[in-house]
Amino acid sequence: MLEARPFRVLVVEDEAPLAESIRYALESEGFMVSTAGSGPTGLEAARSHNPDVVLIDLMLPGMSGLDVCREIRSFSDAAIIMLTAKDAEADKVAGLELGADDYMTKPFSMRELIARIRAQLRRLARTGQFAEANEVLRGGAVEMDIEAHVVRVDGETVDLTPKEFDLLESLMRRKNRLAERHALISEVWGPSYFGDTKTLDVHVKRLREKIEREPSRPTHIVTVRGLGYKFVDE
Ligand code: CA
Repeated sequence: MLEARPFRVLVVEDEAPLAESIRYALESEGFMVSTAGSGPTGLEAARSHNPDVVLIDLMLPGMSGLDVCREIRSFSDAAIIMLTAKDAEADKVAGLELGADDYMTKPFSMRELIARIRAQLRRLARTGQFAEANEVLRGGAVEMDIEAHVVRVDGETVDLTPKEFDLLESLMRRKNRLAERHALISEVWGPSYFGDTKTLDVHVKRLREKIEREPSRPTHIVTVRGLGYKFVDE
């Protein structure tokens, strides 16, 4: 049952080489990993990727790791492991009160990190956290079965490319809320994508052709001029 889908881990860490080593180690173990290099992008990723486990560095640009921890805890039941360079007891106590589940003091071995993550996953499994393993997003005529990787419009399966699928997922996770251009680009093409931002518009155009009744007059994926797009649940 627990093998039904890969576990998702979000790594919020501004030290890029460390974030990449963690990604490499976890992906080798079969986890799905996303990374964010600042507090605000970490929060955004936690909202859109629905992770099972979040690793949060204590010292982050934009927002402290403790604030990120508290915010994520307000909308998510993910296991939270704080990563800290400091061995200060005060920080640990503050983190625990804000809802963190465990700590790792840097430097740590990847083997140790993986053991701690697995311990958290066992805890979540015991508390029935993974009951809704088969997640389905719905909005108007559109239905996305995330685990099965199937999209239906009015009950008919539509064929999306992997990027189109990711883009639609990012939009639908923010149903009826603004999805800013930079956030969509970061989620679909990665935070270090520096290519042409027209790529986003091209993919939106193709998605509209596949899911809108009248692609030239979209009612689901609407443009928010100058800012981004919004998936509207008619
Ligand atoms: Ca840091």
